Amino acid sequence: MLPIAYHPIYKHPLPEGHRFPMIKYELLPQQLLHEGTAIPTDFHEPCMPDMANILAVHDKTYVDELLSLTLDARAVRKIGFPLSAELVERELRITQGTIWGVHQALQHGIAFNIAGGTHHAYSDRGEAFCLLNDQAIAAQYLINNKLAKKVLIVDLDVHQGNGTAEIFTGNNDVFTFSMHGKTNYPFKKELSDLDIALPDNTTDEEYLFVLRETLPKLMDEQKPDFIFYLSGVDILASDKLGKLGCSLNGCKERDEFVLSLCHKLEIPVQCSMGGGYSPDIKIIIEAHANTYRVARGLY
Ligand SMILES: [Zn+2]
Repeated sequence: MLPIAYHPIYKHPLPEGHRFPMIKYELLPQQLLHEGTAIPTDFHEPCMPDMANILAVHDKTYVDELLSLTLDARAVRKIGFPLSAELVERELRITQGTIWGVHQALQHGIAFNIAGGTHHAYSDRGEAFCLLNDQAIAAQYLINNKLAKKVLIVDLDVHQGNGTAEIFTGNNDVFTFSMHGKTNYPFKKELSDLDIALPDNTTDEEYLFVLRETLPKLMDEQKPDFIFYLSGVDILASDKLGKLGCSLNGCKERDEFVLSLCHKLEIPVQCSMGGGYSPDIKIIIEAHANTYRVARGLY
């Protein structure tokens, strides 16, 4: 069983010419089914979330303005997507997909969301294609419902998890770890509980060395009973927003290292997809599919 949250609205088309690669949300489930990494019954269409779970993390004024489509033009520009009812519904369902995922992970060890990892969403505003912070909402949900005592967020997307860091500042129940490109967006970084900023063109060897030095120690110190993994594939050398120098193989080794550790220590893990902006869509799909293939092999 590989529980995967996916809803047809995830591939909701943006206006013609938008630079965000929505096509990956359509192609990835197809690829996973085609090759047999996932079977149809692994997939679940998330419903709309209970707003109380969202308001446990996000400010009411911001959420109200989002739902009523009354965010001002400046706030919408920061998000980077034209605001529409479908876009808001998409984000709400993604959030519920991650909440559903934590229950699945508690039961089966692992769960995926074919979207999410919207780590640039702050408590009171959206930023950089992120409206609501799915893993932050699900982490707070776990704590509030006493389903976990200590949550670790492992954010390996190439961009810093600035929204997640802001949301959990001063919160001892959730430990935020972000490993990201030093010179990459966001240019003004927030303070996570642990930040590792990597120089441009970091190679597989350098990347994996740092990760292997850091993550087991962190698990040992923090003793999380739940892990969120943000498995963005924008660490690839081919990524047009990434600036790091990792290969497809290196990216897969990263996933193997993280998921093997969760598996070995029997810590439930929920994975949200995060970024991936290689110009060749085949590379994006291959890199994201690798995360699922690794999981399939382990669980
Ligand atoms: Zn990213």
